[in-house]
Amino acid sequence: MFEQLSERLQKVLRRLRGLRTLSVSELEEPLRELRRSLLEADVHVGIVREFIERIRQRAVGVELPAMVLPEQFVLKLIYEELVAVLGKQWVPLRFAPKPPTRILLVGLQGSGKTTTAAKLALYLQQRGRHPLLVSCDLRRPAAVEQLERLAATIRVPFFRPEGTAVADVAGAALRFARLRARDVLIVDTAGRLAVDEPLMEELRHLRSLLQPEEILFVCDAMSGQDALPTAQAFHQAVGVTGIILTKLDGDARGGAALSLRAATGIPVKFLGTGERPEALEPFHPERIASRILGMGDVATLVERLQQQIADVPATAVPADPDEVTFETVLEYLRSLRKMGSVSELLSLLPGAGHWLKTATLDPKALVRAEAIILSMTPEERRNPRILNASRRRRIAYGSGTTVQEVNRLVAHLEQMRKLWRQWKRARLPNAAVLGKLNKL
Ligand code: GDP
Ligand code: MG
Repeated sequence: MFEQLSERLQKVLRRLRGLRTLSVSELEEPLRELRRSLLEADVHVGIVREFIERIRQRAVGVELPAMVLPEQFVLKLIYEELVAVLGKQWVPLRFAPKPPTRILLVGLQGSGKTTTAAKLALYLQQRGRHPLLVSCDLRRPAAVEQLERLAATIRVPFFRPEGTAVADVAGAALRFARLRARDVLIVDTAGRLAVDEPLMEELRHLRSLLQPEEILFVCDAMSGQDALPTAQAFHQAVGVTGIILTKLDGDARGGAALSLRAATGIPVKFLGTGERPEALEPFHPERIASRILGMGDVATLVERLQQQIADVPATAVPADPDEVTFETVLEYLRSLRKMGSVSELLSLLPGAGHWLKTATLDPKALVRAEAIILSMTPEERRNPRILNASRRRRIAYGSGTTVQEVNRLVAHLEQMRKLWRQWKRARLPNAAVLGKLNKL
């Protein structure tokens, strides 16, 4: 997700390490690099200009306390400005005081509306709501069937439309929702290849009929510079209340999509990170900024683990590298197998991505790793240092693997701890420095 932007920004951050003072001349080169990185990632040019300008103004000439390095200070500024561009805080969905809440999804064809309708339904259902899905994309029978199939997969009721008048279908769905005490009505709509007036007319009609709490503009993160004019056109026509960015699992540069909030003032509410109905995340600006800056996103990871596997405690992801043991790894492996999208999850965990890269290429390797850990005694799992040669032989024998494989797994764990430690050192100033930084 945002890989290109992330890679570029991390390069800028590495460059910052040479920074000795916060003078105009020393800041010039890193800021130019920062500017270039943002532009190359497709961030809107006006936003880049303001972004750089604010950092310059906040950084130049600041007297830092002795413990704080200029690079740390500039990293903090970049992080804060990034969070500001992304919208500061997550803006959750608005619900009607008197249900059902109506949510209208709008956007171009192929942007991911239908998929997102199902994702939202699942998301809400997992949080105790009772959604009803309806398709108002009536020209193509296949569009209705697509949503019906998705609804069946996630076991959310689907309202089957009759007739071809969008307004009739929406009205009937709303009555049905009331009748069956469904508290959220999610309405999928037709898209076009480009913005056109008949579509906008249809959406305005739906809006006046449904009076939705949310009109969510679904935006393909890969749409590049077109994203902004399209968002503005939809906003002008129907008044968008939130944005959902889709396909962030792809290699989209994503910068354009990230500019939407700053350019339109409309909050990004969710991210789509895959085709599966589970692949939807609330858009927390701080977490996204941390991820883009390569600082990991442990908060999202822990939430995801808790959501999907009720028996994994929050402690599954220890903050201290020395607490990363085979028990952590075992819990982790088991949750991974239940969850499917391994590589995406790993990107949330600093250090682990590297550690499990080899294993994830081959699902069998995950199973073997688990077998090895299961052959360890609890003591060995908690304290890998006691794994001498004879213990390793016993484990290999017990798990039907080889001593080499056991060695490799132990080495991986060490490496994971090391990476984690490095990550903490490189990216997180210690508590004393942090205290000072926060006051600046
Ligand atoms: P619509 O025309 O706006 O309703 O778009 P669809 O929901 O039919 O999605 C178009 C295509 O994009 C489908 O193949 C979806 O599976 C795919 N898609 C939607 N959201 C995502 C996403 O977040 N990630 C990926 N990789 N594919 C997505
Ligand atoms: Mg559709």
